[in-house]
Amino acid sequence: MAELQPVSIQTWLDYCHPDDLKRSEELLNKHFAGELDYYQCECRMKHKQGHWVWVMDRGRLISSDEHGKALLIAGTHIDIGETKKIEAELRIAATVFESQEGMLITDANEIIINVNKAFTQITGYDAEEAIGQTPRLLHSGRQDNAFYTALWQRIDDTGEWHGELWNQRKNGDAYPQQLTITAVKANGQNLVTHYVATLVDITERKAMEDYIHQLAFYDALTQLPNRRLLQERIKHGIELNHRTGNLMAVLMMDLDKFKAVNDTLGHAAGDELLQQVAERVKASLREVDMVARLGGDEFVILLENVTHYEDVAHVAQSIIDTLSQPFTLNQDHEASIGASIGIGVCPQHGNTIETLMDNADAALYHAKDSGRGCFAYFSEALTKKAQERLALESRLRGAIEQQELSIYFQPQIEINSGRLVGAETLVYWNDSDKGERVILKDFITLAEETGVAVAIGEWALRETCKLGRQWLDEGLLMVTLAVNISAYQFRCGDIKNLVAQILDETGLPPDYLGLEITETGLMANQQHALSILNSLNTRSIQLAIDDFGTGYSSLARLKSFPIDILKIDKTFIKNIPFSQDDMMITTTIIDMAHHLDFKVLAEGVETSKQLTFLRQQGCDYYQGDLYSKALSAHDFGLLLRKSQ
Ligand code: GH3
Ligand code: MG
Repeated sequence: MAELQPVSIQTWLDYCHPDDLKRSEELLNKHFAGELDYYQCECRMKHKQGHWVWVMDRGRLISSDEHGKALLIAGTHIDIGETKKIEAELRIAATVFESQEGMLITDANEIIINVNKAFTQITGYDAEEAIGQTPRLLHSGRQDNAFYTALWQRIDDTGEWHGELWNQRKNGDAYPQQLTITAVKANGQNLVTHYVATLVDITERKAMEDYIHQLAFYDALTQLPNRRLLQERIKHGIELNHRTGNLMAVLMMDLDKFKAVNDTLGHAAGDELLQQVAERVKASLREVDMVARLGGDEFVILLENVTHYEDVAHVAQSIIDTLSQPFTLNQDHEASIGASIGIGVCPQHGNTIETLMDNADAALYHAKDSGRGCFAYFSEALTKKAQERLALESRLRGAIEQQELSIYFQPQIEINSGRLVGAETLVYWNDSDKGERVILKDFITLAEETGVAVAIGEWALRETCKLGRQWLDEGLLMVTLAVNISAYQFRCGDIKNLVAQILDETGLPPDYLGLEITETGLMANQQHALSILNSLNTRSIQLAIDDFGTGYSSLARLKSFPIDILKIDKTFIKNIPFSQDDMMITTTIIDMAHHLDFKVLAEGVETSKQLTFLRQQGCDYYQGDLYSKALSAHDFGLLLRKSQ
């Protein structure tokens, strides 16, 4: 008390914070004037140690002089520092809560207890609709359960989650948002009392990001990927192929005589043409392949997971073909261009982006040099091989239409009786371009790879059945006519239905039809093969395994198949009686096949010595030049007549 002497109102005024003086004086004056019964004011007073302390200052006038001037007031100071602090914090919290970011508070059970205005703006739900619900109200379904499990796990572990996700507004629109969830814990304890989530709508930012991405990685005219994106993909492809051992092809394409379109129809028409080129190329590719525009009239097609070199030539040719069709520009102007393509294959022609692109580019120059409208591989030999195959394939396709194919019959004889029991049908091709007749079996690998096998196989089956029916109608002795089914046809075609349909169509009874399937064709997919064979077998169609001994299957594995005849490949017969090994193998095959209830037919029998050996070993049938070469339908008809 002594330190505050002399006790007066002035002393008090000296200790009051200057900023609070005015308010305090006003209130004091009101009290002195009798307007207020007592004086009360929150103000800061100077502590003895120099800092300010918030106090609740209350007082009443004790004495005043004869002029009414106040002399002494008695009163109390209550320290309200703590209350003031809490009030301030609450005010700050309230201001923060109503900030730009959407906020939502839940209790420990994730029940929403409060949301702010920004939340309502973003989500469309007002406080009334949201309170009492859980935040699942906002789920868009775009994140799976695993996502939310990981999210809550993170909050449990660290007390916070921060990230981007898609939520759904009240009107059903999904939108991307940045979300922070914080667990609020009771003071000094590990007990969660609330969760606070702040959410920011990032739709616009995302749209901007997408736009920038589009600008950075796509060509503005055609919307195709640009060089940058292409390079990313090639880089990724090189790494992937490294692991899988597959091939990847870069097809560098440049339009032929494109400048002429610009010159004659104008630049805008040129642009339109580039857009149409992009569409056509895209349409002729698989979903997984990429076409990019490098600029000008240069495009790159990227083929990943290529199995054969030759497959690339197919794609290149089909793109060249589609671009050689006329374009309609400006609604009614027709324009014709062409395209040349250079092919680089990874890893053979380089396994870096630069070498691959450079080599494909070099190949493109080569293609342009060779007269345009064609493709070229980086290596000459490959280009030649691919071109030859394509040409052969297209001639083979045309062979059916141009009636260049004919069926020949290789008679099959029962060894014991010398009776004609059947014939293997062979397809011959009168290649008009080369002016020679070739047996198509030699081309079967090519035909199989290109899928022509299915068309030719179908033709051969139909032709054979037609001829069979014809001979039957002529009253000739009928034997089993065995048609070769290629491995490809067996695997990819619907043999079961095709056979049924053709038998129906031609009226040949199934007992006269045989099918010969190679060992490899059977073994490629045994389960599939078994089901097909079983269904054919129930129709009493004779089933034979062709070229037995050239594959790697054991007789034991064949046991499960409903096979009638096993044909020993001619390579084993050829050297009989000179090769002891071949004789041993032949004997073993015959014995084991009989053991498994198969009949055995030896192919390629040319000498009587071979036949004698086979007879001694108990072989059932044979075919080969010793009896007859393959005969035309006319000659085989004569043979049937003779055998009556
Ligand atoms: P070539 O057969 O040798 O490829 O001859 P070309 O006429 O196709 O000419 P070249 O490939 O050398 O040049 C392509 C031309 O494409 C050059 C340029 O005038 C034109 N060009 C480049 N970019 C654009 C474009 O965005 N729009 C249009 N309309 N034309 C373009
Ligand atoms: Mg060009």
